[in-house]
Amino acid sequence: MLKKQKNLIKALTLDVKKDKWEKSRGFVMRDVAMPTLDEKKNPADAVSVILKIRYAGVCGSDRGIWYRNAWKDGVHDSLKREGKSMRITGHEFLGEIIEIGSMVQSLYQDTDLQNKARIEIGSLVSGDSHVTCGRCYQCRIGEQHVCINESILGITIDGIFAEYVKIPAKNLWAVDTARLRPEIAAIYDPFGNAVHATTVVDFRGQRVAVFGCGPIGLFSILLARNFGAAKVIAIDVNKNNLNMAKKLGAHEIILIPKTKKKNAWESDKSVVARIMKLTYGKGVDVALEMAGAFSSVNNAIDSARRGGQIIFFGLKDGDLTIPKFSRVIARGLTIHSIIGRQIFRTWQIAQRILNDKSNGIQDSIWNVILKKGRGTIINFKDFTPKSFEKAMNENPKIIFKING
Ligand SMILES: [Zn+2]
Ligand SMILES: [Zn+2]
Repeated sequence: MLKKQKNLIKALTLDVKKDKWEKSRGFVMRDVAMPTLDEKKNPADAVSVILKIRYAGVCGSDRGIWYRNAWKDGVHDSLKREGKSMRITGHEFLGEIIEIGSMVQSLYQDTDLQNKARIEIGSLVSGDSHVTCGRCYQCRIGEQHVCINESILGITIDGIFAEYVKIPAKNLWAVDTARLRPEIAAIYDPFGNAVHATTVVDFRGQRVAVFGCGPIGLFSILLARNFGAAKVIAIDVNKNNLNMAKKLGAHEIILIPKTKKKNAWESDKSVVARIMKLTYGKGVDVALEMAGAFSSVNNAIDSARRGGQIIFFGLKDGDLTIPKFSRVIARGLTIHSIIGRQIFRTWQIAQRILNDKSNGIQDSIWNVILKKGRGTIINFKDFTPKSFEKAMNENPKIIFKING
């Protein structure tokens, strides 16, 4: 008699029944079922692939779930809809295609023979973390990044902190690893956030402030310089991140002082005053808010010149106050909100920038932000909550090596 064998793989998970949101933190390594393609049972598998994950980036939103200060509703509401309690986390990846649905190549293979990066068995792929519907108004007019029915890997559907995953082929972006380090290919997605943020306005000759020098703030500094910004001012609470910002080309760095404020949303007066001084009393042309702290939102507004542009990217649950909101209008500020990446316009730009070694961006990411891998590449099989949390807090960006 054949014994039914259940293939189990390792995955980093959050079980909202066992790991109660308010009473726990972190992710738990659990055994989960090996994903499979079964087109008879599930016709959508015809347009999906199975990936063997090689590397996986740890994102600010993973940190938000780890510390339970962001994405609470997204995780809980989606699990309720799916009628289950466990979510596999993670959404930034590089994986090898090991199995492919019957419709994948006819629908998603690039027919350009010059393009060596292909969607086929054995290919290495990254991909967008937002799974869009293709049917809603936004999708149909080419604005998939604001799809009304979107799911986000690792948040509202199962993610990629796992040895193997099933993923829709339409999300994949084939990678030519002859031109791009695999560790960096795994963080295409957050690099794309920075590309998206720095391509909504013209940076040529502009004075720019970047509030929040986490990975996406740091990527944005590299990109702002690459796009011709005249002065880049980096602001953060963390000295190490500011030192990185300086190495990546920020002209000025400002450490946010630890002063006691009555309200968390109040701006930091000394920081704003310093930016005013550095811009000869005008304020910056472009302020990027990439920290998510409520005070940072007001810092960005207060530091922009009249007629300036604000780019909001940082996310935090809860309510914040923007004092005297009328001044945003009276000063003629333009506000942009950046969510995700334009699929695949942003990816194409990101690829061109990363693959062009002459701009130094790929090397800067590896040498400075990823410290040439020292302490930033974590073996998935060695995961412990304590060592992971330590690595996460000591580095702006860490990456799991899963089947690398
Ligand atoms: Zn991310
Ligand atoms: Zn849609």
